[in-house]
Amino acid sequence: MLTMSNISKVYHTDLVQTHALRDFNLTVKEGEFVSVTGPSGSGKTTFLNIAGLLESISSGDYRLDGESVVGLSDRELSRLRNEKIGFIFQGFNLIPDLNLFENVDVPLRYRGFNARQRKEKIEKALEMVGLAARMKHLPSQLSGGQQQRVAIARALAGEPKFLLADEPTGNLDSLMAKQVMELLEDINKQGTTIVMVTHDPELARRAQRNIQIVDGQLCDFKMYQGGQLSNE
Ligand code: ADP
Ligand code: ADP
Repeated sequence: MLTMSNISKVYHTDLVQTHALRDFNLTVKEGEFVSVTGPSGSGKTTFLNIAGLLESISSGDYRLDGESVVGLSDRELSRLRNEKIGFIFQGFNLIPDLNLFENVDVPLRYRGFNARQRKEKIEKALEMVGLAARMKHLPSQLSGGQQQRVAIARALAGEPKFLLADEPTGNLDSLMAKQVMELLEDINKQGTTIVMVTHDPELARRAQRNIQIVDGQLCDFKMYQGGQLSNE
């Protein structure tokens, strides 16, 4: 479970203060698939970075699996992050001169698994995204959709409880976007909690729940069958 209580985030640049999030309250339960939409500059990336322990909060409380992260040291934050959270970014962020196997291995190397355990996890993750046969290929030898699937394999290889995705289909054509979305749905069915920022209303509607961030504040919607958005 991921719980944000009265979170505010203020950026100070020169004399300007930006309230990226204000009085933000959200609980994401285990196993949920939540999509996050909202206008540009409304605070979506800030929210995701806070959720993923990449950014601190100015006030309020954030609990990850019941543990408050406020006041934790950088070291404790990276331990928690490595253990519980997988990230998928819009730009894939694969390392160009490492092959697929080695790319997926990168985060596992921080987790204290031995070589045999890592190999097993890498192969399992690449199999899940349908790219096990390509593990010696370089990212440049793959299509955009395949590269994004590698990024998903990398995020999932360590079996994180939470998968945070920032525009995971943003650079893909609509067919590839659909395939990546189907993969995320499968992963969610297997128990991974997913929070996904997207600009695509069609993808947003496919999640179980959609939250909208407007001007740093939250509007929460539950999805009902038939794809209708209804305010709770
Ligand atoms: P979104 O992802 O919805 O486009 P962001 O979370 O990136 O929105 O940004 C929310 C607000 O916070 C914007 O007004 C943005 O300019 C501001 N902001 C984001 N990051 C920073 C930063 N590092 N320093 C100053 N202002 C920032
Ligand atoms: P170490 O961390 O001890 O150097 P490696 O990560 O190099 O171990 O290798 C761990 C296991 O994964 C080995 O069995 C190796 O054969 C296999 N392996 C390593 N790199 C690749 C790769 N690029 N493609 C396929 N298998 C690999």
